Amino acid sequence: MRMKRYILVVLIACCPAGLLARQPVADMHLHYKWSQQEVTSAEQAIGLLADEHIVMGVVIGTPAELALELARLAPEKIVPVYSPYRTAGDWHRWVYDPEVVTRARAALDSGAYQGIGELHLVGGFAPRLEQAAVLQALLKLAGEYGVPILIHTEFSRPDGMLGLCRGFPGTRILWAHAGAILAPEQVARVFDACGNVRAGLAARDPWRFVNNPITDGHGRLLPAWRALLLRYPDRFLLGSDPVWPVDQLDRWDEPDTGWLELGRFWDYHRAWLAQLPDSVARKIRCENALALFRRTEAVSCVDNGSE
Ligand SMILES: [Zn+2]
Repeated sequence: MRMKRYILVVLIACCPAGLLARQPVADMHLHYKWSQQEVTSAEQAIGLLADEHIVMGVVIGTPAELALELARLAPEKIVPVYSPYRTAGDWHRWVYDPEVVTRARAALDSGAYQGIGELHLVGGFAPRLEQAAVLQALLKLAGEYGVPILIHTEFSRPDGMLGLCRGFPGTRILWAHAGAILAPEQVARVFDACGNVRAGLAARDPWRFVNNPITDGHGRLLPAWRALLLRYPDRFLLGSDPVWPVDQLDRWDEPDTGWLELGRFWDYHRAWLAQLPDSVARKIRCENALALFRRTEAVSCVDNGSE
């Protein structure tokens, strides 16, 4: 009895801050924008990834070439995806600009990029799928090159994503923020309808999408979200989406210090990951991302204890 209590105390004392914090993670949602480069150099960014035990990072550059600067420093770790955004306002203009398709094809053809995104489709700005020729062409292009396409939808119903994933079953879609504002049962509807969709939980934290939390005020997974993660352990990925202050989506006049907040975002995610069975947590924190971006040979999700 005494021994048991001793072991329990050791477990409680050792794990949350120690072992769990060291476990390797893959970050499926990193931005590296010119407004971030001003405060975080490429070298510093790579160092910050190491500090957080991030073994693979999917990087969206604004402009796109900035992702390649990180990839040059750590090619085994960085997965650059092609972003069509170059200037302020592109997040809602891209969908009407046919040149985006030409540039994306050239980017993928160069072999330098292993995905497309992040593409925003937000209610009030986005056209209907039938009229969205640029979006359709990019989905087709991603399928043709066999790379994932990262799409951020923000609609009150899952129909938008259902239209995309059913219309392009041969394209692997990475759904940013798991639908952002959808309820767990709506996310489940998309998973059930489309085997080609994986969902990322970047920015589903206490600072973003605050009206649609996945945990309670104590960081405990909400029962419906916990059930969803357990039901679809192969479909979720995790990321940080380092943008700070949080209203930076379209701010071009101030530096963005998001990379300095990586620890904040990952500490939060690690705390709820620890509430899941090990095998499920390992998939969500790392293995699913490596599989989606085909990095399983090059990167390990197992802590080798070297740091
Ligand atoms: Zn997003």
